[in-house]
This record gives sequence, structure tokens and C-alpha cells, in this order.
Amino acid sequence: MRKKEDIAREIEARFQQLSPLIEAFTSEVCPECREVCCKQRHALYDEDDLLFYKYLRKEVPLPDNRIDPDAPCEFLSSQGCIKPRWQRPFRCTWYFCEALLKYMPERSVKKYRKMTELLRDILFLRSELKG
Ligand code: SF4
Ligand code: SF4
Repeated sequence: MRKKEDIAREIEARFQQLSPLIEAFTSEVCPECREVCCKQRHALYDEDDLLFYKYLRKEVPLPDNRIDPDAPCEFLSSQGCIKPRWQRPFRCTWYFCEALLKYMPERSVKKYRKMTELLRDILFLRSELKG
């Protein structure tokens, strides 16, 4: 059986591969958005995120629980999220609004397929961490 620390490092590596693929799409769609989806409540980690950081043996900046959950996320800047992708709650990575879901496969089927493959890998590896 593989060590959990190795699985966590694999997840981190997948995030590094995935991030530029997602950003190629979001950088074209999100700047035009009038209802930005990054709210404070999305910045909260779930148990699986925390398990990943535990085995990765890295500290991450925690969100401020005193901020209104419906306020803009404290990690959102005018250039987008300031956290590297592996430090964001996983929901921030798998969530795609309707506009993006329509745009991505139209823009590049190849990149879209690679992106979904990596997302599936991360999901699978996160379930292995819990096993
Ligand atoms: S993902 Fe969609 S809803 Fe969120 S900021 Fe980008 S365009 Fe707007
Ligand atoms: S992607 Fe970044 S800015 Fe957006 S909700 Fe997640 S942590 Fe906040």
C-alpha cells in the first residue's frame, strides 16, 4: 500500500499541471464576469482538504471565520485568486459556472479533456487518502 504522504504529493503535482489549463479558460471568461463566484464561504476548507494538507505536511493560510460568508472572498484580488491552486479548497477548482462549461470545450476540446482527466485523478487520489 502506498504511503499517504506520497499520495498527497501526487495530488499537489496534479494541481500544478491542472492550474495553467484552467487558467487558460478562466483568464478569457472571468474578466468579463459581473457576478464573480468567489465568496468567503467558498474559501472554507472541508475535511478532505484538511486531510490533504495534513499528509502533505504543509501549512496553509486559513480563512477568517469572522468575515460575512456572502462577502467577496478575502483571497480574491483584482488579478483573481492569490492562493496557489493546491492551497485553495478543492471546490474552487472543480466548480465551473455555466458560461465556462459552455466555453471550455468550444475553445479547446484537447485542453478540456486533459483538464477533466486531471480532475478525475485528483478525485481518485483524494478518495485514496481517506482509505
Ligand atoms: S467562474 Fe464564472 S461565475 Fe465565477 S468569476 Fe468566472 S465567469 Fe464569473
Ligand atoms: S478561488 Fe480563491 S478567491 Fe476564489 S473562493 Fe476560492 S480561495 Fe477564494
